[in-house]
Amino acid sequence: MNPDTIVAFRSKCYLLPRSLWWPFPEGVRSLPMAEITLVTFEVETASGIRGVGYAQNRGRGGKPVQATLDQLIGPALIGHDYSHPSLLWEQMHGQLARLGSGGVASLALSIADIALWDAAAIAMDRPLFRHLGARRESIPAYGSSFDRLYSDEEYLATAREYVAAGMRAVKVRVGLDPTDDYRRLSLVREALDPSVALMVDANANWDLPTALSRLPMLEEFGISFLEEPTVANDAEAFAEIQRHTTIPIAGGENLYTLNDFRRFIEQRALKILQPDIGRIGGVTGWLRVAALGAAFHLPVASHLGQEVSVHVLCAAENATWLEYVPTFDPIFATPVVVNGDGTISPSEVPGIGVRFHDDLIEPYRI
Ligand SMILES: [Mg+2]
Repeated sequence: MNPDTIVAFRSKCYLLPRSLWWPFPEGVRSLPMAEITLVTFEVETASGIRGVGYAQNRGRGGKPVQATLDQLIGPALIGHDYSHPSLLWEQMHGQLARLGSGGVASLALSIADIALWDAAAIAMDRPLFRHLGARRESIPAYGSSFDRLYSDEEYLATAREYVAAGMRAVKVRVGLDPTDDYRRLSLVREALDPSVALMVDANANWDLPTALSRLPMLEEFGISFLEEPTVANDAEAFAEIQRHTTIPIAGGENLYTLNDFRRFIEQRALKILQPDIGRIGGVTGWLRVAALGAAFHLPVASHLGQEVSVHVLCAAENATWLEYVPTFDPIFATPVVVNGDGTISPSEVPGIGVRFHDDLIEPYRI
């Protein structure tokens, strides 16, 4: 048998309670997110190489993703050569098209694609970013993961922690009452050195008139980008907001396909692309969006999935920022490490180099 043939696959689905991954005592820095779903998928080749892909998501959506991996994707991979994941991506994409574009199909495709790239890089005995062609050894990270429910003190403490770790940028959530947004931005801006860049994320909380009305206030603070000012898949609304401000509009974490990004780019609705590697089609899908952005001279940044995203960010021509969210670190035996200069480097272990704390998460397998 060809040693590069896929001979087996295994999926696992976990529902992880907040107490497991939220690294703060109950009631402190509280987050209105009770649990996350983690889905993992392993492919095994005839030569014994095992590649693992995964994605975590809010809430309880893991089982439909796992069923798609078990019943559609896995069986379709058996007997195929894994060494060119982009070719298999096209095959999987074609098979899943009958489920509709995006959604569960795209989440499952992403996880499988990451597993195939992990295996392909392991087979070459290289970390994924070197297998893809490393353009850089590290990527600047910005501190994210502020919660809207934080007290002012928690906001400040978190911002200071990121800067103390070496980061040159932090992203603050907005979307509250305008006086609250203003007060928090003022607090963070005054507490940090003026050279530290400040970004904001509205998490699609505003309607169009509200978003437009907040622009002058945001411009006062010299914001480096404004993320998801309104409904996340409305390119026309994003374009209208972008026409009214010099602040670059960022987004894309809630887009599922290359065509979604094309629509936003053609309408001049995004200046910074933020594909989520666990949603856009894994390594293959993320790199396609990055290449599309490069053709329009637009930078690409990551959304979550930092352990995998750091590899593609170090390989993509137009990469700009890694979104650093340490929130889920406790479930990883190999969390990313921030360099003293606020950058993050990929693991040098062959493949993606990610391992979970299996003993910790196993009791929550569903
Ligand atoms: Mg966001």
